[in-house]
Amino acid sequence: MNEIRVFKFFKIVYSFGMMNQPLDVSTLIVGAGPVGATLALALAQAGVKSAIVDTCDPAQVLKKEFDGRTIAISHGSHLIFKALGLWEELSSFVEPIKKIHISQANYLGYVHYDEKDSDGFAMGYIIENRHLRRILFKAIFNNPLINCRISNHVKSLDRQPFFIEATLEQQEKLKVPLVVAADGRNSITRQQAGLKAHAWSYQQIALVGVLKTEFPHENIAFEHFLPSGPLALLPMQNDLCSFVWSIDKQFGEHLLTLSEQEFSDQLRASFGDYLGKFELASQRWSYPLGGILVPQLIAERLALIGDAAHVIHPVAGQGLNLGFRDAVTLAEVLVDAARVGIDIGSAQVLERYQRWRRFDVLTLTSVTDLLVRSFSNDSKLIGNLRMIGLRLTHRLPVLKRVMTQHAMGLLGEKPRLLQGLPL
Ligand SMILES: Cc1cc2nc3c(=O)[nH]c(=O)nc-3n(C[C@H](O)[C@H](O)[C@H](O)COP(=O)(O)OP(=O)(O)OC[C@H]3O[C@@H](n4cnc5c(N)ncnc54)[C@H](O)[C@@H]3O)c2cc1C
Repeated sequence: MNEIRVFKFFKIVYSFGMMNQPLDVSTLIVGAGPVGATLALALAQAGVKSAIVDTCDPAQVLKKEFDGRTIAISHGSHLIFKALGLWEELSSFVEPIKKIHISQANYLGYVHYDEKDSDGFAMGYIIENRHLRRILFKAIFNNPLINCRISNHVKSLDRQPFFIEATLEQQEKLKVPLVVAADGRNSITRQQAGLKAHAWSYQQIALVGVLKTEFPHENIAFEHFLPSGPLALLPMQNDLCSFVWSIDKQFGEHLLTLSEQEFSDQLRASFGDYLGKFELASQRWSYPLGGILVPQLIAERLALIGDAAHVIHPVAGQGLNLGFRDAVTLAEVLVDAARVGIDIGSAQVLERYQRWRRFDVLTLTSVTDLLVRSFSNDSKLIGNLRMIGLRLTHRLPVLKRVMTQHAMGLLGEKPRLLQGLPL
């Protein structure tokens, strides 16, 4: 039986068996994207039951076709998946990043990181989004401690002093001490809780797709800053490269109208000759780029994780990694509280989560914002300052090490799963 049929069969069995029976779960997670799924799996590893609701069509999540998105999984996130027992399956779809090369158009100066800067570990891994989503989705579905309600949604959340009563489709009710919003950048759960979100647009779109290059990528991830925006070329399996070209909206829309050959030539003219000639190996996709900062990551019996809590520019390939860190930090805070009998939805527990995550979220949001704004700029003065910055970073081992640790997701107080340890 294929995966989608198995899924539909279980959905029917669940809806008959579970109707009108309150679920015995500790946490309701809204959103079964990669971050919500990681939280559910982390809780399950410590024996904590959860329910997870998602409006998505499973056929879309499980479908095999490439959707243009690749994700750079940091070294830290790879440790999380190792600890959750998923790395073996994921590893057959990843290509390691062994070197990172950062440069800017029209100016000298670059930064080059290699395995010496990362204690011999790969600095990250490139995986197609479809494989990551599918593997996590299957894992939550196969876990007996996770109740999946897919193609379903939360109709209402009724806050009581000691719990929240959630009503799903067909009047199914759940009483839980805590709801977690993992429902992405436009999180309805966040909006309904009245949490303010500051959103902005970069007036850029990201053009993404896959290239065949004349010369092998040698596991180097390239970040080339152009006045119109950053262009990343990331190593994929089978000697292909994924490109993420963040570019002024109008110019980007024009590039989408070019023929494949014209587009590849334009891409090569912007990137340079290092990888030889380019040939498009997929269609092109585009995503609007903006950021979201949410000052309060918690409300009464509610915590935000992933893109529901923050959205950053993809320039450093860190948005999802930040979300994975939210998920495993929240899991640790909840499990620690549950083990000593503290109410996991209490303000004291949620405050601990917020305090722990604030620095990482604020730092990464500001650093990526600064990077994008200062590099997508034609000013000669700023160009020279950037050149000095790149040269300094390249020559100062301490600064280089801090940057490497940050890119690998290893800075700051690390939750246990991020150290590869069980909860
Ligand atoms: C071009 C581009 C490239 C990127 N590259 C990288 C990269 O290399 N590395 C990296 O770390 N990050 C990258 N990112 C960021 C990354 O894609 C996001 O941070 C990540 O997808 C967020 O995951 P999430 O689980 O929080 O949210 P989502 O992936 O948005 O998942 C949210 C889930 O919630 C569900 N949902 C929505 N509304 C409801 C509702 N009302 N009820 C129930 N369910 C609901 C949705 O169906 C979905 O399944 C990139 C982003 C872009 C745009």
